[in-house]
Amino acid sequence: MNAQEILTKARSEGYALGAFNAGNLEITQAVVAAVQNQQAPIIIETSAGEAEHFGMKNFLSVVENFRQETKLPILTNFDHGPGLEECQRAIEAGYNLVHFDGSGLPYEENVKITKALVEQAHQKDILIEAEIDKILGESRYSEEQAESIQAMGSYTEPVKAADFVSQTECDILAVFVGNLHGTYPTSPKLDLERLQTIHQQIPCFLSLHGGSGLLAEDIQAAIKLGVVKVNVNTELRLAFKETLENVLRGSEEVAIYKIMPPVIAAVQKVVEEKIELFGSSQKAIANV
Ligand SMILES: [Zn+2]
Repeated sequence: MNAQEILTKARSEGYALGAFNAGNLEITQAVVAAVQNQQAPIIIETSAGEAEHFGMKNFLSVVENFRQETKLPILTNFDHGPGLEECQRAIEAGYNLVHFDGSGLPYEENVKITKALVEQAHQKDILIEAEIDKILGESRYSEEQAESIQAMGSYTEPVKAADFVSQTECDILAVFVGNLHGTYPTSPKLDLERLQTIHQQIPCFLSLHGGSGLLAEDIQAAIKLGVVKVNVNTELRLAFKETLENVLRGSEEVAIYKIMPPVIAAVQKVVEEKIELFGSSQKAIANV
């Protein structure tokens, strides 16, 4: 099954794929271990910064090795590609999905670049995710109140989204309906009515970024309203850092392969909890 078929199956059966950011080998190992336990279809992704740290080709080769070893449907995504050139590089490198984040551009410019990327990507069976309205917040814990950050953005307008999707023929739309990157003292609430209208008016897949900080019930409601991809990054980063700090505190150990297993286990635990929440556990049926 290719990415299109995997996402179509998720939408028709009412579950979502977790899209987990992996900035290094250990997080990739954690995600793969979780996927093996849960037998879930999954998306593993790198932002531009993570791809630069890991090496785009290194990341894709490592995932390909795991794919062959596990025979599981593990898709790769280039997350929040900042421009045409970076996304073209990701298409050439062979990611299964590429997210072009043109939300900072004037609308017509965003349409133009997204459309060009769609044409190029579809020749290689790669899907393009697009973004019109900036999903605010950063992938870290924030002391700020979610409401004050939500108020600074503009939520996705269903009519505008329908126009954008029909002009660009993008495969996935990253919606902004109150979802924020990062985690907050109080979880941001989603505008589910708006999400329902968007779902009714546009034919493409929907993604929900900011899966770390949202309420479980909001995520599950969003999946019922057509979301097939939920992005998770912050919680993995926090689990990695906190566990690493705990392991190193007072330890004389210097062998990295002895330091890392508890760190990997902590990240794996977060990934498995998310897979269960998204309903994709035991849904892996074929290799890609
Ligand atoms: Zn995002």
